[in-house]
Formats: sequence, structure tokens, C-alpha cells
Amino acid sequence: MYAQVIVDVPNVDADRTFDYQVPAFMFSWIAVGSRVSVPFGHRMLQGYVVGLSKHTEITQLKEIHEVLDVTPPLTEELVSLGYWISRKYICRLYSALQVMLPAALRSSYKKELSVTPDGKNKLAFLPDEQRILEWILKREKVDWDQLLKEFPGQQPFLIHAIRQGWLSCEQVVRDRVTRKTLLYVKKAASDEILSETIASLPKQAQRQKEVLTFMLEVSRPIPLKTLLSELDLSSSSVKALVDKGLLDMEEVEERRDPYAGRSFSEQRKVQFTETQLEVIGEIQEALMQEQHFAFLLHGVTGSGKTEVYLESIAKCLEMGKEAIVLVPEISLTPQMVDRFKGRFGERVAVLHSRLSQGERYDEWKRIREGEVQVVVGARSAIFAPFTNLGLIIMDEEHEGSYKQEETPRYHARDVALQRATSHQAIALFGSATPAMETFYMASNGQVGLLSMPNRVGSRPLPAVEIVDMREELRDGNRTMFSRALSNAITERLGREEQMVLFLNRRGFSTFVMCRSCGHSLQCPHCDISLTYHRTNQTARCHYCGYAEREPEQCPECGSSHIRYFGTGTQKVEEELSKHFPGIRVIRMDVDTTSQKGSHEKLLTMFRQGQGDVLLGTQMIAKGLDFPKVTLVGVIAADTILGMPDFRAAERTYQLLTQVGGRAGRHQLPGEVVIQTYTPEHYSIELAKSQKFESFFSMELKHRFEKGYPPYFKLILFTFTSANVPLAVKSADEWVKKLRHILPTSVYLLGPVASPIPRIKDRYRFQCMLKYRDEPEVLPFIKEMAESFASKHKPEDIQLTVDVDPQMLM
Ligand code: ADP
Ligand code: ZN
Ligand code: ZN
Repeated sequence: MYAQVIVDVPNVDADRTFDYQVPAFMFSWIAVGSRVSVPFGHRMLQGYVVGLSKHTEITQLKEIHEVLDVTPPLTEELVSLGYWISRKYICRLYSALQVMLPAALRSSYKKELSVTPDGKNKLAFLPDEQRILEWILKREKVDWDQLLKEFPGQQPFLIHAIRQGWLSCEQVVRDRVTRKTLLYVKKAASDEILSETIASLPKQAQRQKEVLTFMLEVSRPIPLKTLLSELDLSSSSVKALVDKGLLDMEEVEERRDPYAGRSFSEQRKVQFTETQLEVIGEIQEALMQEQHFAFLLHGVTGSGKTEVYLESIAKCLEMGKEAIVLVPEISLTPQMVDRFKGRFGERVAVLHSRLSQGERYDEWKRIREGEVQVVVGARSAIFAPFTNLGLIIMDEEHEGSYKQEETPRYHARDVALQRATSHQAIALFGSATPAMETFYMASNGQVGLLSMPNRVGSRPLPAVEIVDMREELRDGNRTMFSRALSNAITERLGREEQMVLFLNRRGFSTFVMCRSCGHSLQCPHCDISLTYHRTNQTARCHYCGYAEREPEQCPECGSSHIRYFGTGTQKVEEELSKHFPGIRVIRMDVDTTSQKGSHEKLLTMFRQGQGDVLLGTQMIAKGLDFPKVTLVGVIAADTILGMPDFRAAERTYQLLTQVGGRAGRHQLPGEVVIQTYTPEHYSIELAKSQKFESFFSMELKHRFEKGYPPYFKLILFTFTSANVPLAVKSADEWVKKLRHILPTSVYLLGPVASPIPRIKDRYRFQCMLKYRDEPEVLPFIKEMAESFASKHKPEDIQLTVDVDPQMLM
């Protein structure tokens, strides 16, 4: 048998596989998806088996050195998904396969063997190999590599023994965090002896008595930590008892269940509304068909979407199938997890980026070994190695974070559709503000549309007030708080209610806007805002390179109140303290949340009422649910609208809708105040009235006219180099070559300096490709990109290719 292996060598033709001979003893062990180590040149390299065959054209093959895992980490389906990703997103197959696995499997690993009870029984009947088994038995656990050194040539027998169940083989992740152990205390003598000892211990040994009395009452070993904190004592009393042989301590490996020790309230099922019942019925019917189908569940915040997810998963599990639930990282709060764990308990694994490598690996392993049927997680959970998927749910499907911003630059929505197709499964995308791409698919029937237009219990959506900041200026208010917002804040402080203030400041760039009339400078060719470049005082377009001099007066109204936008949260915090003395502000932005757990901590503080205001960037806009929040304020809606990005209007609409959804979710009625210099912009007007469909058709028209998704596809190329002339020259040549090769129906923009022109001393230039449906485009570009990569060292110049880019930085 021969194996086709893809190895990790960057400079060889990217996706070339190499054939290796499979030694006979590995036949029953190796599979498509196995991770192997193979001789390559003078080295041993790690690789993945992507095919197995009986024949090969190549003579003089080397042998596979080792199969690295007992269970292949990838399934056949995931391997072919890897091929799909590498074609669609133009990346190396190797990195497409890597991204599906927990990081722990990408680094060092080791295998430990121990003899099973079955193996012990067999010992007597295995004269020849007895020696090995006994040798292992004596040491309890033995490292695989060490074993092979001790018994060279015995690999076939060892593999046989594992497959027969005489030996158990455990993968140990070699990182510091993985081996968490806990000290447990247990009784080392009978209850009678313990009771007698309690009676006979002298008075001074009061603490020891307490410990023994306590231990008499527990039937199982308990963690030392728990014992000490229950009795409020130090470990010396316990040690004394251990020395006397009355108690025993042992180290036990802790399963790193990140939610261990938390109890999950058994979720009671709600009485579904009629709308929910209809929607659930449709999904269930589709599930029963066992054919691929996709739905968009368009439901306002609080319409009961999550309940629909839970019920659909229950149906899916009843059918004996598995489900993946994707949630944006920032919405993956303990509350959210509780709802799933509460309903499905031990059948749920949770994957998110706050887990340590070891914890992630443990959760992943539970999935791979079929111990769980539901996964709740952020983007990369889409690769959960299930083999019988019935349902993939993607909540808040419009979220930009579903796109990975490093290679492979996949979008989880597309991967979800791909996986759902191979499993004949249902994909369910949910959002209050669907992405243009998804709603477009729903409007042309590619995806079924399910609607839940009302909140559960007909709780009203909050009243939304749009404040025209130009008028504030006209009336002499130069602060960043309008009179309406100011009054609303003062009222909340008086009533001891809470508020969320929202300021969008992502990215870097300042855009140019007139404070008198709200006019912002637009590129005449691209329908996006121009950004201000301080160095040469120009306003520039980041798509096509158009530039004009910074105006001294507004070209629209002649006012000289031209301003460059980009106020930070810190500045707002200062202003709040100045205008509302004594106000307690909890600020959440990249600066205050970089530490592990700080995000959750700040939210808990706010929930407990330790702050009047939660002030933050977009991370506070989503999914949070605070009963006492009755006011949501948006400091400047225009900061999103002014982003140099064709999705600016879409993001504005989404954000304002999401933000509004935060207020008045409970008994107290909510109010939303949105400050803006362009109240007449359709994204702001329609967000106020919650008319998604009107917004959609308006926006669609713009996209069509200017040639953007969903009508056109985009590919962004970015060249980075410390050497400006080299970067410019490469980008120029690249564009020339593309022009030459590609049909004229494909548009090319650039090259121009990137919106962030320099990162870590490397200069960045970009160009963009727009095209409709030419099927040859991707293979062409893949070939060109591979050839570019093989000719240049990444240290000198690097090309990144971003298919369907979400961010055009
Ligand atoms: P969404 O995911 O659309 O924001 P949720 O499913 O979180 O909505 O529902 C919002 C709130 O309403 C939650 O507190 C949920 O428990 C509750 N809820 C949902 N459906 C019902 C129902 N049929 N009856 C009563 N309460 C419900
Ligand atoms: Zn003006
Ligand atoms: Zn332009």
C-alpha cells in the first residue's frame, strides 16, 4: 500500500503530495486523515495522509516512519474540505488542514502506553512478547519513543497490541498547561478506626479531629483545596494525619473542563409562540428530509431565535445526528453557554479562544471520540470533527469575525455551507441584521427565509431618537453630548438605572467631515469615504488611489468647520466625568480587555451595578443582556459610516440595530439616542424605523451600481515589504500581469498604498480585483500566487491574497 502525503515544506510547489510506502504492520492503522512523520531529504517532517492507493508510478519509495495518532485527527470529509479551502481561498493545502486542528496537535506531542486489564490477562499466553508487556506494566506508563528505543523493531507488535486492546495509548499534549493535577485526600483506614482515633486524640489536636470528622462524612476522595477551604485550616493538620496512616493523599489528573464546578440550571422549556412553532416546524421538516438545505432565520433581537436553535438541536440529536453552533467570540458568554449546557448537559463541548491549549485539545478530543454531539464555539468550531452532522447553526451570521483574517482566510459561512452539503445537513443562519450576501441568497431562493419580526411577549422595541449634531453646533453646543443625550444620562443617574454608551472606533483612519452640514468627502469612483493623510494633507481613496487636496472649506456649504474624526473611548470617559461629576464609568475597549478574563470581569462588575455607564467600542454592542439598562447612546454614528469601506452603510445599519436591541429587554422600557451629523443617510433613517428590507433594496442598488458584493466578487492582494521600491515594483508587475492574463470583464483597481500604509516597518501596497462569475479566475491566481511565493523570500516581500475580503485594510 502507498500513501499520498502532504508535508510542511513551504518552498516546494505548494500542494504537491509525495508518495510513501506503507509498511504492512501499519495497514490497519493508517487512514486518510492520519498525521504521520516521514523522511524528507535528511529530515523527518510531519505530514497528513490525503490518499491511499494500491499502485504508484514511483519506484524506490521511502517508508512512512510513524503514524502519530491512534485516531486520525482528520476525517476524509475534512481532508476534502481542506482541498476545497485551498482552492477557494488560495492557500496551501497544508495550512488548510492545519487550521482545522487544535493548536496542541500542531506542536509537540507524545504518546504514553500502559497495559490494560485485558493485556494483563493475556500476559501468560504471550511468551515472546511477554517481556515487553511486563516491562511496561512495571513502569505503569511508558513513553512511546522511549519504548521503541528499548525494543527496536517491535513497533509492529506494539501496534497490534494497541489494536487488540492489550495496551492503551494516550496522547499527551506536551504543554505546560495540559497536565493539571489536583491533590485529593482520602481515607486510609476504616471508619471504625477513624472514629476511635477521634475519641482518643488529645485536646490540642482539635483541628485533626475536625478533619477526621469531616472525612467520615464524605464517601469519596475530595480535593485537598476543598477540604482546607471548608474547614478553614492549613494543610499541616492533614499532613499529620497522613503521616499517621489515617488519611492518604493522591495526585489526580484533572479533566480540564472549563465549566467544571459550575452547576447548570436545568433549563425549563418555554411555551413556544406561534411564530416559533412555525419556524421550528420548517426546520424540523428539512432535517427529516436528510438533504442539504440552508435557512436564513431573520429575527429581531429578543424574538426567541436561541430557543429555536435549542429546539432544532434537540430534534437533530433525536435523529442520532450531531450539531455545531457558531457564535461570535464576544457573544460566547457564560450566559450563552449555560443555555446550551443547561439543555444538553454533558453532550455539549465548548470551544473558544479563552481556553488554554490543553483545554481546547481536551474538548476537541471529546468531539473526535464521539463523546459529545453538540459543539458551541467561535469561528474555528466549524471544523469540529463530527462524522454525522445534521445541523450547523450560525448565530449573528452577519458578524465580520466569522472571516479569519490570517491565512487561510476562510469565511465560516461558506465553510458551513460546504460541510452541510457534504453531510446532507441543514445550515441555519440567524441574525436580526443579515449580511447583504446572505439576504441576497434568501431573496433569490438559494436559501430559505424564515422570519420572526416580533419580540417574544410583544415587548416593544425601544424608542429611537436620532439627534442631528449639526443643529447642536448651530445652537452653540460644542460638546460631544447633545442636549437630548445629556438629559437622558442625567435622568438615568437620578433613577439609578444603567446605560450603555457606544462609540465606534475601529481601525485607525480619520475621515473628513463638515460639522456644519455633515458632508463627508467621497471618492467619485468608488462610493467610499476619502481618508485624511496628515503627512501630505490630502484626502485619498484607498481602493483606487484617487486623491485631492484637503479642503479648507466644505465643498458643499462653504463652512470652515471641517473635522477629522476619530475620537477615542478614553476621551469620552474624560468628558463624561467632566460633565457628570461622580458618574461611574466602566470602559471596555482593546486597552482594558487585553488580559485573559478581563472582558468577563468588566461585564460582571457592570451587571452587579458597580458602574452607571458601560462605555465601549463595538464589542459591547452584541448579545449582552442587562436588565437595568434603559438607555443606549451612540456618540457618533458617523464614525462607522465614514469608514473607507464599501460595507460602511451596512455596518452602520447593523450596529445601530444591534445597539438598539440592548435596551429595554426586560421590565423597564428602553430608550435609544443616536447622535449623528448625517441623520438623513438611509442607513441611519432605516435603522431607526427598523425597515431592514427597505435598507436591503436601497443598499443592493448601490452595490450593483458600483460593482460590489453580492453582485461582484472581490479579491484583495496586499504586498508587504520593508523595501518600498520593491513593493511598488512587485505590485505594479502583478497588476500588469493580471491585466494581460485575465479577461476584460475582470476589473482591476490599484495598486495603491494600503489604508494602513505601514505595519511593523513593512510598507503595504494593495490592489483589488472585481469580477462576476469567471470560473477560471481562482485557479489562475492560485498558480500566480504560488509562483510568486516560490520566487521571493517572505522576509523580502510577501503577498497575501484575500478572497471575499471583509476588511480592506
Ligand atoms: P434572540 O436569540 O432572538 O435574541 P432569545 O431566544 O434569547 O432571543 O429570547 C429572548 C428572551 O425571551 C429570552 O430570555 C428567552 O428565554 C425568552 N423567550 C424566548 N422564547 C420564549 C417563549 N416562547 N416564551 C417565553 N419566553 C421566551
Ligand atoms: Zn458643509
Ligand atoms: Zn476610489
